[in-house]
Amino acid sequence: MNSSPVSFDNTEIAFKSLSNFELKKALFLFKVFQNEFLVKVGGSFTETALSWGLPISVFIKPTIFKHFCSGENLEESKPLFRQLAQKNIGVLLNYGVEAKETDEEYENSIQQNLKAIRLASTEKNIRAVCIKLTGFGRFALFEKLQRKETLNESEQKELDKINARFDLLCNEAIKNSVALYIDAEESWIQEPLDQMTLDRMRIYNKENAIVFNTYQLYRSDKLKDLKQDIETAKNEGFILGAKIVRGAYVEKEAKYAQEHNSTSPIHKNKEGSDADFNEALKSCMDNINQVSLCVASHNEESCLLLTQLLAEKNIPYSHPHICVSQLYGMGDHITYNMASLGINCTKYIPFGPLVDVVPYLIRRAQENGSVNGQMGRELKLLQTEKRRRGI
Ligand SMILES: Cc1cc2nc3c(=O)[nH]c(=O)nc-3n(C[C@H](O)[C@H](O)[C@H](O)COP(=O)(O)OP(=O)(O)OC[C@H]3O[C@@H](n4cnc5c(N)ncnc54)[C@H](O)[C@@H]3O)c2cc1C
Repeated sequence: MNSSPVSFDNTEIAFKSLSNFELKKALFLFKVFQNEFLVKVGGSFTETALSWGLPISVFIKPTIFKHFCSGENLEESKPLFRQLAQKNIGVLLNYGVEAKETDEEYENSIQQNLKAIRLASTEKNIRAVCIKLTGFGRFALFEKLQRKETLNESEQKELDKINARFDLLCNEAIKNSVALYIDAEESWIQEPLDQMTLDRMRIYNKENAIVFNTYQLYRSDKLKDLKQDIETAKNEGFILGAKIVRGAYVEKEAKYAQEHNSTSPIHKNKEGSDADFNEALKSCMDNINQVSLCVASHNEESCLLLTQLLAEKNIPYSHPHICVSQLYGMGDHITYNMASLGINCTKYIPFGPLVDVVPYLIRRAQENGSVNGQMGRELKLLQTEKRRRGI
């Protein structure tokens, strides 16, 4: 393997978009996240206070909200999209309101996603709109589909509605030349989600990849599924849109398996997830004409592997089938250093009313708080850059 053409230690490139004030604010936030007690108590307090209508959003909005989200609506988000465009960074846009259960809420989510898709026709660096299929269909219905139980008449109508909503978004995405990324969710509903998504790829990905599925490589069966989907795409003549991730539901999957006395589909250890992620990356790169790939990861080794494979295979860094993504507010050392090579780099950015995106913010705080997690790395890099600037 060639040596890597990029280093992630360059904090000057990584944080060039942050003013001294913003850098200090980010440092403060990440230090707070390290305090497990504060994160735990702060998380519950925030949710309760907001549900009581207490005016704490004045504290949250300029700090944690601004660090991880673009705005409460699309209009408010535009300045950030334009700042990123100037730095050649793309946007994966996500309406960050989660787990709703009524038809009215599903319709609202569809309308917000349609607006996001249409915005991509003017804000050219919006590369994709990311959706969860459970954002416009009932979780229990997907569970029933996975168990292959017969649906009653009203459930069949619900399913028809979900399919119609999905097609509405796909058609709008194709009209506005923007991709639609389908998030991967819990293993006990993932089968119907995969099936619906692959069916759309057959229809909408004839010339370009519009629809992308997400492959969670922390599952021991997903490398096989990915390879099989690559073959299907070859045989049937469509482009496979593949976002590869490790997977977000480690604890939830373990709990579910224990409660249902079943075997967890997750690898026995992190090394297993890492090995399959890197193998999936190689498989996609070996078939890069057939696969449009999004490497969605904060893992430095996997991102370096991508740059090495690009160099080794003589594939241009700016190949339109290659994209890299990190969450907005994290992993800038990867995003900006890879973008400096000319690779299509993006930030995954949620928008939505502050009260509704709080669960997302709490997850980010918790994840960044773990000593072994991303946090240690983020904090160290910010501290290095503060020292470098002498501030
Ligand atoms: C742009 C973007 C989109 C994403 N979309 C999705 C999505 O649609 N669905 C989804 O589920 N996740 C999604 N994620 C989250 C992703 O799956 C990971 O949880 C997260 O990015 C951390 O993994 P990592 O590759 O960045 O790196 P790392 O920090 O190296 O890896 C951490 C990950 O390793 C795995 N892991 C940790 N411990 C173990 C263990 N003991 N055994 C097995 N595996 C272990 C877990 O997946 C954990 O999240 C997305 C992430 C990004 C950046």
